[in-house]
Amino acid sequence: MLWEGILLRLAKRWISGTDAESAIKDAWAANKRGMSAVINYLGEDVTDQSVAEAHLQEYLRMQRAISENGINGCVSVKLTQFGLGADDGRCEERLLRAAGQASGLRQLLWIDMEGSRFLERTLEIYLRTRERFENVGLALQAYLRRSEGDLTRLIDKGARIRLVKGAYREPHSLVFPTLGEITKNYSKLMGILFERADNFAIGTHDSRMINEAKRLSESWHVNFEFEMLKGVRDELKDELVSSGYRVGEYLPYGAEWYRYSRRRISEHPRNILLIIRSLF
Ligand SMILES: Cc1cc2nc3c(=O)[nH]c(=O)nc-3n(C[C@H](O)[C@H](O)[C@H](O)COP(=O)(O)OP(=O)(O)OC[C@H]3O[C@@H](n4cnc5c(N)ncnc54)[C@H](O)[C@@H]3O)c2cc1C
Repeated sequence: MLWEGILLRLAKRWISGTDAESAIKDAWAANKRGMSAVINYLGEDVTDQSVAEAHLQEYLRMQRAISENGINGCVSVKLTQFGLGADDGRCEERLLRAAGQASGLRQLLWIDMEGSRFLERTLEIYLRTRERFENVGLALQAYLRRSEGDLTRLIDKGARIRLVKGAYREPHSLVFPTLGEITKNYSKLMGILFERADNFAIGTHDSRMINEAKRLSESWHVNFEFEMLKGVRDELKDELVSSGYRVGEYLPYGAEWYRYSRRRISEHPRNILLIIRSLF
């Protein structure tokens, strides 16, 4: 218990806390710094339908809290939280309920992209939902070799995209093998977004990609925002806001903070040093 308490204190660099109030508090703080808030209730791979329903209810409550508190923000969900993989039909129904409420409240609803085994079904469910609600957006991962095809298909259907590099361990055959090649593909896909899309999000902390997006935005006058995770590159977020760019801060919260925090550490091992330093 004591050890868990210490770990949670350290994880609070990346997560708001375990309850909805902590996320609302961080969302307020993000708004005060000129950013919007993208709130994620932590959890994935839900197979129990009553748990999937509880996840939906948590998001519906959070959407209402965002509106009632006058917060500039929205939620970002994972489809496996709604039961994707266990009961795809009910997962889609739950997504529609969340998208419908978001639309009524004039909020966006983002869908995170998970491991590649869920990709096809996520795309199908997203596109069907997008036909009914235009306020729904989807994350797309630049590490996947197939993403250029998916991106152009999604743009043709008017999708709202958040471009990220990708965070899951995937079979070698599906992904670009090095960070250099992933970044090169990110740059290529970002070029396509600026040239052909509108209302998208550039989800990265990579200065080179951010500078490239700034340059592209001088030639292509489109609506876009930078999105970054809580606890990562805070000074850069403030710099972008003060230069007039739109920035969204992704704020995870909930009891399932351990897996998320482990992912953040593994993609940037220097975080372990920060943690050790903060212990002394
Ligand atoms: C808003 C948002 C939403 C996301 N949604 C998804 C999603 O739906 N699906 C998915 O697979 N992935 C998602 N991700 C994660 C993403 O795929 C990457 O794993 C993550 O953003 C790291 O990649 P990077 O683009 O920042 O570039 P990197 O090349 O990994 O990092 C560039 C630089 O950013 C800084 N940095 C990056 N990560 C960290 C960190 N954890 N701690 C400290 N510094 C860091 C470092 O300075 C690093 O050199 C999301 C990321 C963001 C920002």
